[in-house]
Amino acid sequence: MHTKIGRLPVPAAAILAAGMVLAAQTPAPIPPGVQKAFATFSTARLLEHIRLLSSDKFQGRGPGTVGETLSLRYLQDQFREVGLTPGNPDGTYLEKVPLEGIYADPKSMRLTFTAGGQTFSPRFGDDYVAWTKRIVPEAASRGELVFAGYGIDAPAFRWNDFKGANLKGKILVVLVNNPPFKFLAGKKVMTYYGRWTYKFEEAARLGAAGCLIVHETGPAGYPWAVVHGSWTGEQFTLANLNKNMNRAPFEAWITHDTAEKLFRMAGKNFDQLEAAAQRRDFHPVPLGVTGQVEIHNALREVDSHNVIGKIIGSDPKLRNEYVIYTAHWDHLGMHNGQIFHGADDNGSGVSSLIELARAFRALPTPPRRTLLFLSVTAEEQGLLGSEYYAEHPLYPLARTAADINMDALNVWGPTRDIVSIGMGESTIDRTIAAAARALGRVVRPDPDPGKGFFFRSDHFSFVQHGVPAFDPDSGVDYIGKPAGWGQRIHDQFTANDYHKPTDVIEPDWNLAGLVDDAKLFFLVGYDLANAATMPTWNPGSEFRAARLASLKAARMRSEP
Ligand SMILES: [Zn+2]
Repeated sequence: MHTKIGRLPVPAAAILAAGMVLAAQTPAPIPPGVQKAFATFSTARLLEHIRLLSSDKFQGRGPGTVGETLSLRYLQDQFREVGLTPGNPDGTYLEKVPLEGIYADPKSMRLTFTAGGQTFSPRFGDDYVAWTKRIVPEAASRGELVFAGYGIDAPAFRWNDFKGANLKGKILVVLVNNPPFKFLAGKKVMTYYGRWTYKFEEAARLGAAGCLIVHETGPAGYPWAVVHGSWTGEQFTLANLNKNMNRAPFEAWITHDTAEKLFRMAGKNFDQLEAAAQRRDFHPVPLGVTGQVEIHNALREVDSHNVIGKIIGSDPKLRNEYVIYTAHWDHLGMHNGQIFHGADDNGSGVSSLIELARAFRALPTPPRRTLLFLSVTAEEQGLLGSEYYAEHPLYPLARTAADINMDALNVWGPTRDIVSIGMGESTIDRTIAAAARALGRVVRPDPDPGKGFFFRSDHFSFVQHGVPAFDPDSGVDYIGKPAGWGQRIHDQFTANDYHKPTDVIEPDWNLAGLVDDAKLFFLVGYDLANAATMPTWNPGSEFRAARLASLKAARMRSEP
């Protein structure tokens, strides 16, 4: 069912302002070949993949564990069975991803602040978490603390918190998220400049002695427990020859309480300085406090793997261009004897990836461009498998039309709507809207653009290299359920099961919605793979420059 704007009882402008994209034209009929492909989707088979991947045997699919061995074997078997060609030009389905595990021992970690005669030593875990990304057995650092606002230098938004101050050798204290300089339907958007990854990268570029991000639940998008859980225990990083020595000597989060104490010690008021940081004329504020940190690491090397298969495009002129489907196979493994099953995150995505491959193989003729099916490792460790692929692409990224990423999909039944995170950024919006229309569904933008979901899964590794992406999220308008039911179910999952051992298959799961969503992901990829031209970033998108640079570099390489 689709709705015409003119027939709505409320003014179309009001609906559009509420952010819903409406079907304005009659949808194109679904071609018989695609209907044949759709007929392969089966809720039973989708459930079987998830059941196996989330079983105790797979031990939570931690990289470098028995869970990796079993996951890789299963994915390769499935890719072979559905008839995918090995995606690595070396004739295999695997891409090796060398990782380095870094475990910072909390017992021997020290963080101390001194000012005048006073000393303040916050407690690891309760008050702060700290680590070094440098692959070294020991790290020590010392420097004067400087409050640097949001720690952002963003020419695109005419924002610079540093104002040319020399911050070499200083320890930066910065806020999470970004000031209100970008909006979507009246809501503040978190840009890449708001993400903690950017802030630590920027601190390193400035030659800082370290960087402390002040955690606040609202702007971060998650509570301190998530920060604590994510930054204790072993951390993985991509192995590299310079041992991450280009990173700052240490990186840390501190709680809001700790920040208040620290600022009080400096004779300053945190709230006042936080308010000052909302303004373009903000200048860095030296706190008159010295910070000192000491970290001892246990290190180990782990070879993990991405799994990749392909369907070669049917058009000789376009088959050296690519559309990628991604879904991370890894999850959190085991902690303290408990298995983190990751049934939804991301058994649901991997299962859909296999079944999309099967569906595409059922087409009488493959799409014109080549399709890649990529299941990446170490997403939960900071998008490492996809970052590795983007830095060592098996097919040129300048000729990669788009990435369609599936992570923690809808398992609670059919919805009328689907959410497109990152809507408004590229021409893929039109492809998604057309696919939704053809299937009688509607697309909504991210209802919470301030939480930075666009930066929190594997498609972002592609986006950073300029490849446009579709990052779908579950709809909330469940067919046959009362209003508010969908949001409640999602909120319950986030509160009780997300990144917890209880992310398991539940008796009330209904994968009919997963089939509907898979059809939509199929149509989007099918259209992108058949279109005359590759999609582009919209003017004004913060990601456009990366694509232009990538295309330019590719042109230079092909010229003598
Ligand atoms: Zn995930």
